[in-house]
Amino acid sequence: MELIDGKKIAAIIKGEIAREVERLTDKGLKRPHLAAILVGDDPASHTYVNSKSKACQEVGFESSSYKLPYDVSEKELLETVDFINNDQEIDGLIVQLPLPEHIDNHKVIEAIRPEKDVDGFHPVNVGRTAIGLPSYVSATPYGILELIMRSGIETTGKNCVILGRSNIVGKPMAVLMSRNEEPGNATVTICHSKTKDLKSVTSKADILIVAIGKPGFVTADMVKEGAVVIDVGIHRIESDKTKSGFRLIGDVKFDEVAAKASHITPVPGGVGPMTIVSLLMNTLKASKKEIYPGIDRL
Ligand code: NAP
Repeated sequence: MELIDGKKIAAIIKGEIAREVERLTDKGLKRPHLAAILVGDDPASHTYVNSKSKACQEVGFESSSYKLPYDVSEKELLETVDFINNDQEIDGLIVQLPLPEHIDNHKVIEAIRPEKDVDGFHPVNVGRTAIGLPSYVSATPYGILELIMRSGIETTGKNCVILGRSNIVGKPMAVLMSRNEEPGNATVTICHSKTKDLKSVTSKADILIVAIGKPGFVTADMVKEGAVVIDVGIHRIESDKTKSGFRLIGDVKFDEVAAKASHITPVPGGVGPMTIVSLLMNTLKASKKEIYPGIDRL
C-alpha cells in the first residue's frame, strides 16, 4: 500500500507557486492578490480565512480580508462584492461559507465576477468545467486531481466510483473524472443516499472517492483489492489518546481499508492540505489571466 501524502504534495506545489511569484515580480509584474469576505464570528470560518491568508503570505501573494458583522444586510454584502469586483489590484475573491440564513448564498456567489471566482462556485465556472472549457475548478476536486496526477495513478479506462453528490465535491469530481483527458477518461458511477446495494457498486471501483460526511463509513468489505481510495471526509472525534482530547478521522475506516488498497489518502494529511493549495493555484491563474485571457477584469 502506498500512502498518498497530501501534506508533502501540497508543500511541493507551494514551492512551485512561490517560484512563479518570484519570476513574475522579477519581471516587474504585481504579486497575485486574493481577497476574502468573512461574515460573522463563526470560529471555524475565521480559522479557514486565517489559514488562507497565511498560505498567501507563504507563497508571496498579497491578501486582504473584509470582515462584516453577522447582521450585515444582503445589499451591503453585495456592494462589498461589487467593490472588490471593480478593484483591479485584486485577482481573486472568495466569500467564506456558510453565510447567515438571511443572506441568499446563490445570489452572492453569482455576484462575483467569474474571472475572479477562484473558489470555482459561480455557475459560469461550474458550466465551463462541465463542457470542458478553461475554468476555475473548485478547490477540493482540483486538489484531488493533483493528488491523483502527482501520485502517478492512471485513470483512463478505470472504474471510478464517487460516494456523494454534493455541489462542492461529488458532482464536480464526477465531471472531472469522466472528461476526455488524463486525469479523467474513467467510467464514473456516482452514489448517494438512495443508491441500492452500495457495497456491490463500491466493490467494483478501481478508484473510490469518498465524500459522504459519515465517519468511518467505508469498511474493507466495500473495497476491491488493489483499489485507489481517496477519503475526503473530515470529522473531529473525541479521543483519550491525544493531549487535545480529540482526533481527526475520515469517511473511511483507514486501517482495514489501507490493508486492501494500492493507494490511500490519510486523514489528516491527505485531501485536506490540498484544498488551500488549489485556491492558491487558481489565484495564480487569475493574476496571469489564464482562464479568461480576453476579458479585462474592469
Ligand atoms: P454533503 O454535502 O453532506 O454530501 C454528502 C453526500 O453523501 C450526499 O450526496 C448524500 O446523498 C451522500 N450520502 C449520505 N449518506 C449516504 C449513505 N448512507 N449512502 C450513500 N450516500 C450517502 O457533503 P460534502 O460537502 O461533499 O462533504 C463530505 C465530507 O467531506 C464531509 O465530511 C466534509 O467535512 C468533507 N469535506 C472535506 C474537505 C477537505 O478539504 N478535506 C472539503 C469539503 C468537504 P444525498 O445527496 O442523497 O443526500
